[in-house]
Amino acid sequence: MPELPEVETTRRGLLVAMEGIRIDHAVVRERRMRQPISRALPLCVAGLTICALTRRAKYLLVDCGTGTLIVHLGMSGRLWLVEHGTPVEKHDHFDLVLTNRKIVRLRDPRRFGLVLWQTGDVLQHPLLASLGPEPLSADFNGAALYKATRNRSAAIKLVIMDSHVVVGVGNIYASEALFRAGISPRIAAHRLTRARCEMLAATIRETLGEAITAGGSSIRDYVGSDGMAGNFQSNFAVYDRYGQPCNACGVPIRRLKQGQRSTFYCVSCQR
Ligand SMILES: [Zn+2]
Repeated sequence: MPELPEVETTRRGLLVAMEGIRIDHAVVRERRMRQPISRALPLCVAGLTICALTRRAKYLLVDCGTGTLIVHLGMSGRLWLVEHGTPVEKHDHFDLVLTNRKIVRLRDPRRFGLVLWQTGDVLQHPLLASLGPEPLSADFNGAALYKATRNRSAAIKLVIMDSHVVVGVGNIYASEALFRAGISPRIAAHRLTRARCEMLAATIRETLGEAITAGGSSIRDYVGSDGMAGNFQSNFAVYDRYGQPCNACGVPIRRLKQGQRSTFYCVSCQR
């Protein structure tokens, strides 16, 4: 599943080819996504110039001045650039055909992605309005995490994956950030001290930041070929390392289920 770093990598890869460029037309080959693509959408976007390509959580926002195209990659989506005339493949459901000989193409085999058109303030869209702070913004820090966890008795791993607390901390990054902070994934969120919240906010930022940098290093491959982005996975300390020795202490990495997802952690390094 594309996580925040992959979405940000996608954004950075598409930025130069999209910003300031006019949309010639849009092609919808399959409307049946997580929500159906509106029949009116091609009419809404044709002829508009893309002012900016931004991101909120895992939503890519194509700002066209009079409205914004909201794109979500769902479980299996990929958005990348092809030249005009590039043959269409089976799961290529949506194209944004630009006037610079480029096409921004969405391929999504499982169709959990979204392509929506919103006029007015896009941040007020129901999908975006109640989201918590961006992890890499100044709004997210130890103080914010401390405040957000005071009334939460759920395990800290589940709380940092709650998009009302902070957006974009997926399963992999939650495990990795907790390991770096030396915090057990099972501890009740409200039991974390202010100092430990500071530490965890810092490791969340660090983990996601490094993953974006790793994705960024392979950005050309990501945008131009079929390979998924990033080499961050070679840096996992605990994620998907069940039974292997902890890099810090040698104790085998453990695994447990939290909210139907696997958590990986070191029982010795994380308290
Ligand atoms: Zn350890």
